[in-house]
Amino acid sequence: MKADNFYGRERESYAEPYKIKMVEAIELKSREYREKAVTEAGLNVFNLKAEDVYIDLLTDSGTGAMSNRQWSALLLGDESYAGAKSFFKIRDAIRDIFGYNYLVLAHQGRAAENILMGTLVKPGQRVLNNMHFDTTEGHVRMRDASPLNLIRAEGLNTSLEAPFKGDMDLEKLEAELKKGAKDGSVPFVMMTVTCNSNGGQPVSMANIRAASEITHSFGLPFFFDAARFAENCWFIKQREEGYTDKSVKEIAREMFSYGDGATMSAKKDAIINIGGFVAVRDDENLYNLCSQRQIQYEGFKTYGGLAGRDMEAMAAGLYEGLDEDYLEDRIGQVRYLGDRLKALGVPLQVPFGGHGVFIDAKKCLPHIEQRFFPAQALTVELYKEGGVRGVELGTCSFGHTDPVTGEEYFPELELMRLAIPRRVYTDRHMDMVAAAMGRIMDRKEKIRGLRLVYAPVIMRHFTARFEWI
Ligand SMILES: *Cc1c(COP(=O)(O)O)cnc(C)c1O
Repeated sequence: MKADNFYGRERESYAEPYKIKMVEAIELKSREYREKAVTEAGLNVFNLKAEDVYIDLLTDSGTGAMSNRQWSALLLGDESYAGAKSFFKIRDAIRDIFGYNYLVLAHQGRAAENILMGTLVKPGQRVLNNMHFDTTEGHVRMRDASPLNLIRAEGLNTSLEAPFKGDMDLEKLEAELKKGAKDGSVPFVMMTVTCNSNGGQPVSMANIRAASEITHSFGLPFFFDAARFAENCWFIKQREEGYTDKSVKEIAREMFSYGDGATMSAKKDAIINIGGFVAVRDDENLYNLCSQRQIQYEGFKTYGGLAGRDMEAMAAGLYEGLDEDYLEDRIGQVRYLGDRLKALGVPLQVPFGGHGVFIDAKKCLPHIEQRFFPAQALTVELYKEGGVRGVELGTCSFGHTDPVTGEEYFPELELMRLAIPRRVYTDRHMDMVAAAMGRIMDRKEKIRGLRLVYAPVIMRHFTARFEWI
């Protein structure tokens, strides 16, 4: 581990590699107003109106600020139904960056997952991933299949400083593949880069290469969940032996060379407001199957749920997302917020990941049993305290009731995520977030747990409603 540049240069030694041309007003509503708003929202911040939020760290998905280059690219959008110029532009960008020949566009990441899972996953199968993202897990379950997380144990230890906590446990992978080889129960292996669900932790190139070799030795395809691939590659450049002098783009090319394809939410590292895709290296048959499903759910091959202008902005954004000054600033801002929270004694997932700071709610609110949703309670309190919207990634998002045994399943990690939108907020906004968390730390013993009053079966965090116990 190279401590000096674990996160890039010191934050104080550089400034944002852009200036601001357009602003959007935000307002901190009164505390009384916020309390009423979040109560009416069923104590679920997904149900709040965005205008009632002061600093919105719900997600960094589709919330980034596009550049002047991207905005100008919108005007080049070719809105032809079939064969639009913009399609070939984005297809070529993906060939250039990923090295994957076939492109199946979709309106966002989960739509790409729907296409890939719907094509390859059969009921009763097991999908292997270092750690499924929530929508990915949802799509596997919707196929009546089981999502298995094979992340190494250190990835679940929130207080351990290690460079690549997204790495997959290769022994477990091999064991699962041996089982699968007997009964054909594993359709493919997927690697999520960076690993969103445990804090945006990167996966090392060595681990990717080895996982890919093992998977291929069983004759199965190896895919990436590439939503945050540029951030992952930036971490590889900082932290992995032999990559310091390579460009992030070269690192991406090598990384994708180990895979057979990828799904991507372009709302992340392509810095656009909507868009996604499946990319397939060279398996024409798989491409054709995916594209049939795309046409049913998303749209014709050359637009797949997107306007021509979206494809233009995506092509420009994919390259901007690989810009190393941008990546250093973005990941540096995550660390800036993390360092401030750490100084206040907030228990955090370390090292800080690519896109946000993850607060360990089990450690922060040890007096609330996990079945009473400590991370959700913290999320509600942070909105009340500072008008800041984070998101729960714990028992509400990942817990579920076993349909057969009726047993409650609790996830290992009980986190509140503060995801930082790209190029949107300044460090002074981060200071306000830290100050609000600091005030919560002073009164945290008084925070109560929550009880569910409504929950759907799948993806319950989006629409669940709660009451205080
Ligand atoms: C956001 C995300 C997805 C889902 O993408 P959407 O565009 O939100 O549908 C899938 N995987 C990872 C790792 C993500 O971060």
